[in-house]
Amino acid sequence: MSAPAPLSACHIGSFAYLTVKDRLPIILTRVIDYLYRERNAIAEKYGEGAREGCKEVVGRLSQLKNEIQTNKPLQLLQPTHPLSPHDDSESWNQRYEEYMNIDDVPPKWFTAPWLYVECYMYARIHESFYLCDVLKDFDPFMVQKQDSLLQSHLACEALAQHVLSVCNSLHSATQEQLKQHVIKLIEVSVWGNKCDLSISCGAGRAQNDNLLASLDTLRSYLLVNDSEKLWQFLVSLPEDQRDIVLVLDNAGFELVSDLCLLTLLVEAGLTTSLTIHTKTRPWFVSDTTLADLTWIITTLREKGGACSEIGKKWEGYLAGNRWKVSEHGFWTTHHHYAEMSTASPALYSQLSKASLIIFKGDLNYRKLTGDLDWPTTTKFEKALQGFNVAPLVTLRTAKGGPVVGLADGQAEEVASIASDWNISGDYGMIQLCTFL
Ligand code: MG
Repeated sequence: MSAPAPLSACHIGSFAYLTVKDRLPIILTRVIDYLYRERNAIAEKYGEGAREGCKEVVGRLSQLKNEIQTNKPLQLLQPTHPLSPHDDSESWNQRYEEYMNIDDVPPKWFTAPWLYVECYMYARIHESFYLCDVLKDFDPFMVQKQDSLLQSHLACEALAQHVLSVCNSLHSATQEQLKQHVIKLIEVSVWGNKCDLSISCGAGRAQNDNLLASLDTLRSYLLVNDSEKLWQFLVSLPEDQRDIVLVLDNAGFELVSDLCLLTLLVEAGLTTSLTIHTKTRPWFVSDTTLADLTWIITTLREKGGACSEIGKKWEGYLAGNRWKVSEHGFWTTHHHYAEMSTASPALYSQLSKASLIIFKGDLNYRKLTGDLDWPTTTKFEKALQGFNVAPLVTLRTAKGGPVVGLADGQAEEVASIASDWNISGDYGMIQLCTFL
């Protein structure tokens, strides 16, 4: 059987349709309003030229918003002058031509694949800034990302306290206790994925309470729970060959929850090398860039209490190369992951050395599954379409895009309880594929 069609906004009422119709224009409006409101403060920081720059960018973003709302054809991206190493306009424009060749008409917002148009919007936002020299590195989502961390302070403190006390007790922990500790932090990392600003269009998505206290209740909301298998897989790896890669999703509380999981993996000797992949540019509102990662660690370190202690620990891991950070432009392309081996052989080869790759969040899940309209009972490995670079696990709460690997009747059952189950973020997945 051939693969299903890509999800697309052409289906009126679908989540893809509502995203293109409502969510994307709202995200643009927030950036436009922010630039207009803060133009003086931005000029103070980036120099007088930035005031005019804000005006230019607002003009471009307003045009982009209009193109979306009137379902105009997508435009070719403009290359940077001089050509920046992060410029990927050629690849975007090539994909554009491919769509032209298939349909003989340019791709449009409501008819082209949803994954492509949603990624394209963020590439256009980035283009709007890089065409303006003084603002070429400006992150229009930075303040939203930072606020979401600051509003989650109590949850971060409770989590940091927990992780530090677990780390201090590891010398006397049994294997069973260690397993329970690891599984708990995997679950925290899953639920941390609820704090996604692209779904809330940038409105506050903080973690208000101590997540640890809710884990037992939340467990019944895991649609796929391979945590036990994941544990067995982790401990089956040779002790001197546990190279773990984490491909991040959102900054804010989610990033803290991810780093807490990594802390335990390091302290418990469950990993020999750990590489964290960030985005190279602002993406899907809250996705983590290297600047976000650095900011979060510095901010926690200055907070006092357990946050401070854990922040220092993380700085030490990074300084001592126990945690490495990798920035790769592939993560902000339009490519789904089955295309990685040809679109980015270098990254593919780097990832092929991993013992386990942890993919966080919806966008990774959508790119892993090609964002196709898979039946929910499709086997996860089948939906990966040959992307078998290394054993991998996905940790996400479902907030749109495909859901695969469910049992017969499971989707119907959960839909009878909550009709918005696959977009609300209330249901989570820990889904492992070892290709064995
Ligand atoms: Mg995200």
